[in-house]
Amino acid sequence: MKIIAIETHLIRVRADMGAATGEFVAASWSRLDSLFRRVVTDQGLEGWGEGFGHAVCPATRVAIETMLAPAALGQDARDIRGLHHRLAQHFHLYGRNGPLTYALSALDIALWDIAGKAAGLPLCQLLGAAPPADGFAAYASLLRYSEPKLVGEAAARAAAQGYRHIKLHEIDIPQVAAARAAIGPEMPLMLDTNCPWTVADAITMAKRLRPFDLAWLEEPVWPPEDHAGLARVRREGAIPIAAGENAAGLHDFRAQFAAGALDIAQPSVTKIGGITEVLRIAALAEAKGVRMVPHCAYFGAGYLASLHLQAALAPTAPFEHLFLDLEASPYHELVQAPGGRAHMPDGPGLGRDPDAAVLARFALSPPVTVRA
Ligand SMILES: [Mg+2]
Repeated sequence: MKIIAIETHLIRVRADMGAATGEFVAASWSRLDSLFRRVVTDQGLEGWGEGFGHAVCPATRVAIETMLAPAALGQDARDIRGLHHRLAQHFHLYGRNGPLTYALSALDIALWDIAGKAAGLPLCQLLGAAPPADGFAAYASLLRYSEPKLVGEAAARAAAQGYRHIKLHEIDIPQVAAARAAIGPEMPLMLDTNCPWTVADAITMAKRLRPFDLAWLEEPVWPPEDHAGLARVRREGAIPIAAGENAAGLHDFRAQFAAGALDIAQPSVTKIGGITEVLRIAALAEAKGVRMVPHCAYFGAGYLASLHLQAALAPTAPFEHLFLDLEASPYHELVQAPGGRAHMPDGPGLGRDPDAAVLARFALSPPVTVRA
């Protein structure tokens, strides 16, 4: 089964956080950009993947079109692990994390989608798990509102919608206090800080955050590759530590586990190298006794892939769902979490192909196809 064409679609939809927003890294959350990738085989089967994402979409797209796609054309679509290995090794000198790896992630997800379709099985079943009958508890991943009043209101809105786990993206105490006050003492509350602090500052902040009973503190240290520093925060701050969305593959996770840096491992399927790499990391995390809760800050094919991985690898963990209202999605209701629950499709592979009309209507630029 040979790969004969690879197509990329870049779309932009409006996104609504439900309030005026504070700044959040380099991205603007009034819109959401997503990169969809279609892989076509000579036997008529097609798969869809997604490469991370948001402001880096154009760079990921160039990596697909100029490097990954030409190298993947003509290869056997069934040889997922072999192709993953060859491409990762061939291109390693251009970086082990970033757009090339995001591009490889998109290809890998699409090939697993094809494998599921070829077998006539949902991806989670191919991985040895039944789809959960009633989906998963989703956690509302609130973006950065900055103003404590807005944070409290957004947390209350999420709880009223049915979410039973809430994560904040804030970097100071009053915002966390406002959320905790809004949702009460019982509901699990997580804090994702996106690498703002030195190790010393992170330890100080972790101690100040203790009264708010955080289920985890995510990425408190800059830079994310300072595993020894993160381990110190975990020991001295005495709050469970989550990280991994910015890791460079299996061996970076191995180094984090060896340093004693993590309570919760968060590989991101559109960033880390796709389903193949997440499966390796999951096996290592299990052997090391580290809990896995996949990162999912997107709504494309990576969202569906994350649902299947969650079913297979972390069925009792809450599923990350960005707390945003989207103008439209090529997956329609599948990427919503009504009542705070995420549901998976039951079709083969990822379970559903994106709606071509939505891809066309919200295209930022015409799709590009690379053929053998
Ligand atoms: Mg995060």
